[in-house]
Amino acid sequence: MLQFKPIFLGKVPRQVPCAATAQRCIRTNDVENVGRTARHHTFFEMLGNFSFGDYFKKEAIKWAWELSTAELGLPAERLWISVFEDDDEAFEIWHKEVGVPADHIKRMGEEDNFWTSGVTGPCGPCSEIYYDFHPERGTLDTDLGDDSRFIEFYNLVFMQYNRKDDGSLEPLKQKNIDTGMGLERVARILQRVPSNYETDLIYPIIEKASELANISYGLADDPTKLKLKIIGDHMRAVVYLISDGVIPSNIGRGYVVRRLIRRVVRTGRLLGIRGDCRENLEGAFLPAIAEKVIDLGTHIDSDVKARAPRILEEIKREEYRFVQTLERGEELLEQMIDDALSSTREKGTVPCLAGEDAFLLYDTYGFPVEITIEVAEEHGVTVDMNAFDTEMEKQRRRSQAAHHAIKLEVGDDADVTANIPDTEFLGYDALSARAVIKS
Ligand code: ATP
Ligand code: MG
Ligand code: MG
Ligand code: MG
Repeated sequence: MLQFKPIFLGKVPRQVPCAATAQRCIRTNDVENVGRTARHHTFFEMLGNFSFGDYFKKEAIKWAWELSTAELGLPAERLWISVFEDDDEAFEIWHKEVGVPADHIKRMGEEDNFWTSGVTGPCGPCSEIYYDFHPERGTLDTDLGDDSRFIEFYNLVFMQYNRKDDGSLEPLKQKNIDTGMGLERVARILQRVPSNYETDLIYPIIEKASELANISYGLADDPTKLKLKIIGDHMRAVVYLISDGVIPSNIGRGYVVRRLIRRVVRTGRLLGIRGDCRENLEGAFLPAIAEKVIDLGTHIDSDVKARAPRILEEIKREEYRFVQTLERGEELLEQMIDDALSSTREKGTVPCLAGEDAFLLYDTYGFPVEITIEVAEEHGVTVDMNAFDTEMEKQRRRSQAAHHAIKLEVGDDADVTANIPDTEFLGYDALSARAVIKS
């Protein structure tokens, strides 16, 4: 919604009263959730409808209900609603006008149900729609955020305030609507699969990675499935970040791509996919998975196919660079193990690799500590994990101190549609609604 901020604030006149969007989203704050919950990705598609001082709360709620029940066909009795604790108006609309029973509407606090795009700026109470996978459990016996029973799939933000520098809320001249519906989450509900990862949006990527690792996903244990989900998720993020012009580097957005690529390479290695790019750029394994992402993605971004050669080249180079570093780390690890063995031989103690050494391998050479432990174990050497954890904690504090926010702003006078030619929406007639550029 960042591109709409100046319109929400009334700083630039609206050109249209309302809009509908399909946006590519990156949420790095969910990186640790990937695969651990059934619903979070670093990259996902968000479908949205927006009002710029046109329709408001009542219409947004009624239409969201109509879309969920009549169009998507979700049974009304499986839907639960959250509203902001003070928002009696939303509660009444849901209950009295839409007919949702009061015990299916939960009032929640600021953290879940008051939406802000930053410390200051347009904001407002929101209302979310959740799907219940276990209606047989009856009353609300757990949190709505509990993955094992519910999934939040649609959020309606009633954008009616501007949060000022002093923290106070100033009512906006016009009341706006900003909604978001996660496509992967809706697909998961409609396709009746255990998690977003088994939907046809992501599963083919996981299958490709499984094939490279010689694993059957269906028979795999949970830690293995987690690794495959990480690969499936991160490769989508990497492909679309690069497609949209973010190149791996050590700063800002570029570092996000770099970290995601490195995590896929490391995770692949833990699954036994090593590729063969020690000396040969062509031996990289990521491009084969990225190709699958691109094949699946023309509905997400009609440009991705045309950009494929550049995307694959970028990924291949980054994997190659990282593998060189990993290989140097491997040599270093062997030397560290030799040192640990010979020093203990002299002292007669149990051989142990210093936590500081394991940290150096992790921090500088991108070695996951699990790999260090595994290789050390093969030689009968343990790793001092207490010291490793202490180093990790020190690094966390260092990076917190160095933290700087990436500015997520579009200038007030920016006309984001200025350079975009007309597009034709094919969604009413075609299952895969690719936007076709007319001019
Ligand atoms: P959650 O509580 O599950 O983390 P959220 O409240 O942070 O979700 P919103 O900020 O309300 O999510 O985003 C709007 C919609 O986008 C959500 O209702 C959901 O359908 C989808 N969504 C949000 N975060 C993710 C994610 N990390 N991966 C996939 N879909 C997401
Ligand atoms: Mg969230
Ligand atoms: Mg939420
Ligand atoms: Mg939400």
